[in-house]
Amino acid sequence: ERKKAPGNAAHNALQIAAGLLQQSRCGRPSHSGARLTQATSSFRSACAAARQKLQQRANERACANERRRALRTLSEVTRLRRRRDRCLPRDGNNGAPGAPLRVRLRRSRFRGDVRAGEAGAGFPPAVGAELAVQPWPAGAGRGGRRASGPAGEAGARRRGAPGQAGAPRRGGRRRRAHRSVLDFDFEKLCSISLSHINVYACLVCGKYFQGRGLKSHAYIHSVQFSHHVFLNLHTLKFYCLPDNYEIIDSSLEDITYVLKPTFTKQHISNLDKQAKLSRAYDGTTYLPGIVGLNNIKANDYANAILQALSNVPPLRNYFLEEENYKNIKRPPGDIMFLLVQRFGELMRKLWNPRNFKAHVSPHEMLQAVVLCSKKNFQITKQGDGVDFLSWFLNALHSALGGTKKKKKTIVTDVFQGSMRIFTKKLPHPDLPAEEKEQLLQNDEYQEKMVESTFMYLTLDLPTAPLYKDEKEQLIIPQVPLFNILAKFNGITEKEYKTYKENFLKRFQLTKLPPYLIFCIKRFTKNNFFVEKNPTIVNFPITNVDLREYLSEEVQAVHKNTTYDLIANIVHDGKPTEGAYRIHVLHHGTGKWYELQDLQVTDILPQMITLSEAYIQIWKRRDSKEETNQQGA
Ligand SMILES: [Zn+2]
Repeated sequence: ERKKAPGNAAHNALQIAAGLLQQSRCGRPSHSGARLTQATSSFRSACAAARQKLQQRANERACANERRRALRTLSEVTRLRRRRDRCLPRDGNNGAPGAPLRVRLRRSRFRGDVRAGEAGAGFPPAVGAELAVQPWPAGAGRGGRRASGPAGEAGARRRGAPGQAGAPRRGGRRRRAHRSVLDFDFEKLCSISLSHINVYACLVCGKYFQGRGLKSHAYIHSVQFSHHVFLNLHTLKFYCLPDNYEIIDSSLEDITYVLKPTFTKQHISNLDKQAKLSRAYDGTTYLPGIVGLNNIKANDYANAILQALSNVPPLRNYFLEEENYKNIKRPPGDIMFLLVQRFGELMRKLWNPRNFKAHVSPHEMLQAVVLCSKKNFQITKQGDGVDFLSWFLNALHSALGGTKKKKKTIVTDVFQGSMRIFTKKLPHPDLPAEEKEQLLQNDEYQEKMVESTFMYLTLDLPTAPLYKDEKEQLIIPQVPLFNILAKFNGITEKEYKTYKENFLKRFQLTKLPPYLIFCIKRFTKNNFFVEKNPTIVNFPITNVDLREYLSEEVQAVHKNTTYDLIANIVHDGKPTEGAYRIHVLHHGTGKWYELQDLQVTDILPQMITLSEAYIQIWKRRDSKEETNQQGA
């Protein structure tokens, strides 16, 4: 009978009592007194039990209502906060006067007891009072030990009962981590406060939130959306929120690796021997190092350069190992080192064999570029590949502690060569012949030589004639690579004009770097616009010998002068609005790939020479490889 509703219990008690009273009047006086007492007492106890039950029910209902109201308040509060945060200026802070709303959340000594209060103007009065919320449901309690309790059932339903999909661990939280939504390529700032400090990634939805303390955005997020696994993006530790304990679980290591890939010496030395495909989380396969880079808006010029540099083995190897540059000391307040750090991170992401996706976003790298170049190079505006390459190599060199003359870095070790520049001043062409003769006797007009270093060689194209064929289509002129390389043979003279003086210059190479960069000068600026020369350069992609461009004494010392192409950057379309793509050689497979932003396709080597090559990187053959080639 106790199991029935409390109302029924009271009714039953009355009936029993009435029956007993009836019996007490049955005419057996000896019994009636005792029976009456018995009936009265059992009536009383039944009534008490009923009252108690009713009270309990009312309490439970009140509790449930209260809790529901509290949760509603909490989500309303978060919503309002978000809305406010969106309106506030970027550096707006929660406690600033005039901030319409501030929320304080704290947990009482009862586990999971959340109190939401307000401490700011503009808060709805109805939720102004502190709300006591009943303990969290049993399902969410520690190991479900407190299986009973008024809210047990409701809670288990809301959170997913223990034992449901996803192994419940300590605390009974489902430690789901959705690898497909995780992307660590973007700036590590809190999605709400926009702060860089102490940022956690929610491993369920992939968003970033600040802090894990009781008032923090990550904490509120975990309560509001029941997302419980968070990764601290700086310490690489995992936490369960709102319970706030560290998770140590080796099954999450792949996530840490994607956030911060590391490379052993062994791994690095094998990179160019492997042809092994990696598989991304969505099943697509990719070759590490040959992965697309997002075009965020108009940054394909920078993408092509970054791709090319990431495929120069010694430079790549240096940046894959953070140890190589970690301890370089920079003056306080120096921002240029950011470039080095970001480039290293990008390099490790591009070569990560265990990435969740088959492409990488250069977002953080490019933000550093925008900052360090003082907005000379931007994400939102197409730039010039050669300008960017030149700036980037010099910036890297100086950020690594290199100087103009003496101090070398990995950048100069890989790319720097040297040449002699012979300069002869010319008399003004309008002067009479006699005067010219006389001037030429002057010391000022004698040829002078300087030795100069270079990071890349600029190759000039012959002026493109505007021939048209019978179909009225422009004929695209072609020129062999060796013709335009003749600039460096020490004999060819080229005239240079400044606004008042004319010079004749000739060049001779004195040192060839291990990796030689050619920049083919396609763009000329005149007073009004930029013009593009569409001439196609004909070149073999292997076996280009530069011996004849060295002086005789240098030839004797320089053993290897033969180069093979490893990267070819192409500019398509009009000068200002054109697009960049790149051809790179994958050393492990020996195959060529074409990359244009996110697209990666394999390409036949003979197709490479048909493009409007703009920047090329050539690799010098070592003696060992040369003999191999001969043997093969
Ligand atoms: Zn989440």
